[in-house]
Amino acid sequence: MALALSSTVAPRFIPQRLPRVCLALGEDTVEDMLATAESMARDNPFLEFRLDYLKQPLAALPKIHRFLETHQYVTAIGTCRRADNGGKFKGSLASELEVLTKAHAAGCQLVDLEMQSALKAKPDAIARLRGRAGLIISFHDFHATRNLDETLAKMLKIPADFYKVVGTATTLSDNVAMMKFLQANSGQHSLIGVCMGEQGVISRVLGVRAGSAFTFGAVDPSAGLKTAPGQISARDLRSIYRIDQVDAATRIYGVAGDPIGHSLSPVIMNTALRRENVNGVYLPLHAKTLKDLLHCVREIPLHGLSVTMPYKQSIVPHLDNTDAHTAKIGACNTVVRGAEGKLYGFNTDIAGVVRPLEQRITIENAKVLVLGAGGAARAAVFGLKERGAEIWVLNRTSVKGQKLARQAKAHTMKRADLHKVAFDVIVNATPVGMGNTRDCPLKDEEIQARVVFDMVYDPVETHLLRVARTKGIAVIPGVEMFVQQAARQFEIWTGKPAPAGDMLRAVTIALQERAAVPKPKA
Ligand code: NAP
Repeated sequence: MALALSSTVAPRFIPQRLPRVCLALGEDTVEDMLATAESMARDNPFLEFRLDYLKQPLAALPKIHRFLETHQYVTAIGTCRRADNGGKFKGSLASELEVLTKAHAAGCQLVDLEMQSALKAKPDAIARLRGRAGLIISFHDFHATRNLDETLAKMLKIPADFYKVVGTATTLSDNVAMMKFLQANSGQHSLIGVCMGEQGVISRVLGVRAGSAFTFGAVDPSAGLKTAPGQISARDLRSIYRIDQVDAATRIYGVAGDPIGHSLSPVIMNTALRRENVNGVYLPLHAKTLKDLLHCVREIPLHGLSVTMPYKQSIVPHLDNTDAHTAKIGACNTVVRGAEGKLYGFNTDIAGVVRPLEQRITIENAKVLVLGAGGAARAAVFGLKERGAEIWVLNRTSVKGQKLARQAKAHTMKRADLHKVAFDVIVNATPVGMGNTRDCPLKDEEIQARVVFDMVYDPVETHLLRVARTKGIAVIPGVEMFVQQAARQFEIWTGKPAPAGDMLRAVTIALQERAAVPKPKA
C-alpha cells in the first residue's frame, strides 16, 4: 500500500513504502537491544528503539548511531514514552524532546511522541523536531477502545507525518471499531491503528488490511520480550499470518473460543492456506461471550469460522442452517458465512474420527468402545455408527453414557465388564492423559483391541498410546483427528482438497516446539 505521507515531510527521512511490521525492541540495556537488532535486522529491517526502556537513553544513542550507520537498510523509530502514558521515561518534557531530537541525529528516521506530550510542548519545539525527523504522534488507551474519532481530531491539531491510535480490546467488537475507524480515515491521513490485549490480536493483522500503515511485532512474546500486551512475534506475523500478502481481497477465517491463546488451529490452517495459494488468513478470536463473537463474525466479515469450547453447542441456535451431523450431535465446529451474510453450520469432528480409522480398518461391523459422552464422544459414536460399526459407550457419569447410547442405538458398557467384549477399536474421547504422560483412562490390562485411538493430542504420545504400542496394538494419535477435522473445514471453506500431510507436519513441529519450552513453575 503506498503511504499518503503529508506533503511537508522531507522524503529523504522515510522510505516511500515502509515494511508492514515494525519490530519493537524493549530490552533494558542498549547492549541487549543492539544484540537483538543485530540478530533480527536482516529479516526485520524496520525497528522501533524503545529508548524509554533504557536507564540512560542519551548515553545509549552513540551506540545506536553506530549500529544504524552500519545497517543503512534499517528504518528506525526512536520512542521515549513517558511513564504517565504507558512508557518508562520519567524525565522532564524538555529532556524527552531532547532524547527524540538526538535519536534522529543518531539515525532514527522517525520519532514517536505521544499526543499528551505534544499538546504540552510549544508548537515551535514540535515543528523543529518534525523539521528534522518524520514525526509520529501517538495515543495509547490502556483500558478500552473508545472515542477514536475524537482522539484523531485532537491529534490532527499537531502537524505530523503519522498518527498512531492504540486502544485496548476487551471484546472482539473493539477490533471492529478499530477496523471501521481505519477504513474511514486512512484515505486522508497516514494512520497506524491497533488494539492491545489478547482480544486485540486480530487487529494486529487486520489493521493493515483496513488501512494501518504498518503494525508492531514483538521479538519473542513467550519470553516476555514484548512492549505491549497482546503483541504477536514479528516472525509469526510474517510466517504464520503472511502479513506482507494481506490485502483488501484477503478472506478472513478464524477460530473462536475461550480460552484460545494456545490453539494450534492458526498454525495448521495458515499452513494449508499458504500451501494451496488461497488468499486468506486465519486468526485466533478470543471471544468471552457468544454475542460478541456473533457481532464480530457479521461485522468483520469472516468467511469461515472454527468453533471450539465453550461455543460448540451454544452457537447452533444462531445458525441459519446446519448439516445433518451438526443437528444429530447438537454441536457445531465449523461455520461458513454465505455471501448474503447467512451462517451455515457443519460438524467436521466426525470426519476427524472416521478418516484416520478407515485408513486402518474396515469400519463396517467393527466393535468399538468409546470412552466419554461429551461432544467429541458424540461425534465418534454417531459417525462410526453411521458407517456400520457396533458401539459401546463407557462414561464416568453413567446416565450421560446411557443417554448417548440410547440416542445413537448403541450399547453401554460397565467398567467391570470390559473384559467380556473383544473390541476392534478403543476410542478415548475424555481429556484424561492431556498435558502429561502419566494419566490413562484405562488400566494396562484393560487395553485390549486391534486399534487404540486417543483424541488427546498434547502430548502426541499419551500414556494410553504408549501402553497400546508396547502391546503391539496399532495406534491413532489425536493429532490425526485434529488434522482431519481441520482438513474437512478447509475443504468446506475453499472447495479445494486439503494438504493434510503439510498440516500434520506443521502441527507436529508446533507441538514439539511447545514441549521443548520449559513449563513455568507453579
Ligand atoms: P467434553 O464435552 O467436556 O466431554 C468430556 C467427557 O470426558 C465427558 O464424558 C466426561 O465425563 C469425561 N471425563 C472428563 N474428565 C474425566 C475423568 N477425569 N475421568 C473420566 N472421564 C472424564 O469434552 P469433549 O469436547 O468431548 O473433548 C474430549 C476430549 O477430546 C478432550 O481431551 C479434547 O481435547 C479431545 N478432542 C480432540 C479433538 C482432536 O481434534 N484431536 C477434537 C475434539 C476433542 P462426565 O460426563 O462424567 O463429565
